[in-house]
Amino acid sequence: MIYKHIILDLEGTLFTSEKFKERTAQLAIECVSDFFDITLESSDILINSKKKELQLLNGYKPALSFSLLQLGISLNNWASYQSKAEFTDIINFNQGLNSFIKELSSKYNLILYTNMCSELSFKILQHLQIRKYFDPIITPQYLGTVKPNLEVVNHLINNKIIDITTTISVGDRYEIDITPFVKLGGKGFLVNQEKSLYSLKYFLNEK
Ligand SMILES: [Mg+2]
Repeated sequence: MIYKHIILDLEGTLFTSEKFKERTAQLAIECVSDFFDITLESSDILINSKKKELQLLNGYKPALSFSLLQLGISLNNWASYQSKAEFTDIINFNQGLNSFIKELSSKYNLILYTNMCSELSFKILQHLQIRKYFDPIITPQYLGTVKPNLEVVNHLINNKIIDITTTISVGDRYEIDITPFVKLGGKGFLVNQEKSLYSLKYFLNEK
């Protein structure tokens, strides 16, 4: 198989940080608390019940951004909270990641696709010194939607940004990062404890 386009997820794929996850979850609680004018505790309960409801409905754990949208929070509102996230103390610059992405970018068209807002995504990519390797960088602000979403994949196909038959989507959540691409004819690579991002190299070289 010859691949040309690699779609990469950001959090959980290009970096993993439990502390970052906790900070983002805390910001979501603050966002919902301000929006509905409820206590932080009630906000936490509300978010969790929405997540459970969506999980029952769809059969998998929903993305945080998706759960907030379903609660009626706008993308812009949520983005303004996400932008407050501090991360430089918990996400370290990684030379290995930098070299890996640089090498991949010399052979493939790299596209970043994340549910994190533009401002925070750009800052993290800048911090990791890999922003220049991705084009385009797709955030919820790109088409006003969050993952999983067929509309975004169709947009990429229809605008000839990708040829789906030579596209592989890489992420840590199958239903969210990979399913939409596979549904339309692409391939997927799930990053997990057994298969690190770096083993993608071997997968790409398999005939
Ligand atoms: Mg992820």
